[in-house]
Amino acid sequence: MKVRTRIAPSPTGFPHVGTAFIALFNLCFAKQHDGEFILRIEDTDQLRSTPESEKMILDSLRWLGLDWSEGPDVGGPHAPYRQSERMGIYKKYAEELVEKGHAFYCFATAQELDEMRTEQQARGETPRYDGRGLKLSQEEVARRLAAGEPHVIRMKVPSEGICKFDDMLRGEVEIPWAQVDMQILLKTDGLPTYHLANVVDDHLMQITHVIRGEEWIPSAPKHQLLYKYFGWDMPVLCHMPLLRNPDKSKLSKRKNPTSINYYRDIGILPEALLNYLGRMGWSMPDEREKFTLAEMIENFDIKRVSLGGPIFDVEKLNWLNGQWIKALTPAELLDTILKWQGDRSKLEDIAAAIQPRINLLSEAVNWAGFYFNQFPQITKEQFESKKLTEEQVRQSLQFAIWRLESMFTWNNDTVSQTLMDLANQMGIKLRDFMPTFFIAIAGSTSSTPVMQSMVTIGPDLTFARLRHALEIVGGPSKKEAKVWEKLNESLKLPKNDAVDEA
Ligand code: GLU
Repeated sequence: MKVRTRIAPSPTGFPHVGTAFIALFNLCFAKQHDGEFILRIEDTDQLRSTPESEKMILDSLRWLGLDWSEGPDVGGPHAPYRQSERMGIYKKYAEELVEKGHAFYCFATAQELDEMRTEQQARGETPRYDGRGLKLSQEEVARRLAAGEPHVIRMKVPSEGICKFDDMLRGEVEIPWAQVDMQILLKTDGLPTYHLANVVDDHLMQITHVIRGEEWIPSAPKHQLLYKYFGWDMPVLCHMPLLRNPDKSKLSKRKNPTSINYYRDIGILPEALLNYLGRMGWSMPDEREKFTLAEMIENFDIKRVSLGGPIFDVEKLNWLNGQWIKALTPAELLDTILKWQGDRSKLEDIAAAIQPRINLLSEAVNWAGFYFNQFPQITKEQFESKKLTEEQVRQSLQFAIWRLESMFTWNNDTVSQTLMDLANQMGIKLRDFMPTFFIAIAGSTSSTPVMQSMVTIGPDLTFARLRHALEIVGGPSKKEAKVWEKLNESLKLPKNDAVDEA
C-alpha cells in the first residue's frame, strides 16, 4: 500500500510555524516511503475561516519548499481538497451511522444543554452530554424530524471502560471513555464538525498515516470509534510533540512571533527555517546541525522523534540562519537579499513615502532604513508623553495589537480606521495618540506617515514591533490583561452602553 500523508490546516489565522513543522514531518515520512504528501483545507468552521488565511498558508508552505502533490490549488484524484466544497458528502455518512445505530438525533436546545451543564457542575461532576437524545423513542424522533425541529446528529460513545489506541511514537495510549463526550457529527445547519469531516476525508483520500500535533490526542478515541462504526481501516496515528517557548509554555505569539511570514520578513532563509524545524525533537544520525530538506528525507526516521517538548528558540534559529548565510558566495548572498526585498510594489511604496522628504538620493537610506529592520532601537524614555499617562501609552499599544490582530484585510483604510477609532474611543486626540506608534514602528516621531508604513511593512512586522514596544514600556500583567480586554471591548460599544471600567 502506498504511504499517503497529509497536512490539514484550518484557515483561521496567520500561517503558524507549528503548521510548517507538522507539514515537514509528514512530507519527510511520505517521501522516505516513496509515498505522497497532500494538502487539504479544513474550513468547516465557516465563521472563522477566510480565503485570505488559506492563501497565506499555501503561500508560506510553498515559500518553504514543502510541496504537496494534491491540494486545492493543484487538484488531484480526490478533488475537491477544500472541505467547504465537499459539504454534500458528509451528511449521508452521519445518517448512515444513525441507521446502523451508532449515532442518534438530538433536539436539545442550547439553553437546555446549558442548564444540564450547570446542574452537573453543581453536583461536582465534569460537564458532559448526558445522552438525553438516546432516550427518545423512534416515533418521537420521526415526529420531531417531520415537524422540522432543529437537531444535530451525535455519535454514541461508551460511558465505561478504557479506549486504547496505538501511536507510532507513544505506543499504546489509554483514555477512559468517561472523558470522551458524545461528539456532535452534524450540526443544526446540516454541516459536519471537524471530527466527521476529518475522518471521512482521511478515508476517502486514502490517508495511511496521520501525523499531527499532540493537541489532537483527545480526539483520537472519537476518531477510532468512527472508523470502527464505518467499518474502515484507521490510518496509523502519530502525535508529534508541541513546539514550546524557552520557558516551556506552549509556543504562543505573546512570547515569540509564530507566523511564518514574520520569519520571512526579518530575513530568515526558507532553507534555514526548515532546517531549524527539522531539529525540533529530531536529529540527524550524525547529529550535524545544518542539513537540507533532501538530506533530512534521506536520513529520516520518525522513531527518532523525541517527545520532550522541543524549544523554539529564536536566538538559535538566527544562529543557524547565519550559518546558511555564511555558506553562500557573495554573489549568491546578493541575489538572496535582492530577492528578499525585491518586491517592486513594496519598494515603490517606500519611494513614494520618502519622496517629499529628501533632496539628495543619499538621504534615502536614512529615511527608508526602518522599513527593512526587524525592530527599531528604542528606549522607554522615548515613549514619555506630556499629553498621555503611562497607562494610556501602554493601553493604546495593547489595544491596537488586539484590534489589528483580529483584522484580516490589511490596507490603508482598515489600518487607519482601526487606529482612528481606537484613539477616538479612548478619548485621545489623534495627534497625541500617534507618536507612540511612530516610535514603535519607525523608532522616531519624525518619519514617513506611520499608518502607511504599517501597511507597507505588513502585519507580521507591525505586530512584532508593537509587541516589542509594549515590552519596553511594560505590558500588562495577567490580571491587568483580563481587565484591559474587557475595557477594550467595552470601548467598542456605543457610548451609552459602555461599561465604565478602568
Ligand atoms: N484541521 C486540523 C488542524 O487545524 C487538523 C488536525 C488533524 O491533523 O487531524 O490542525
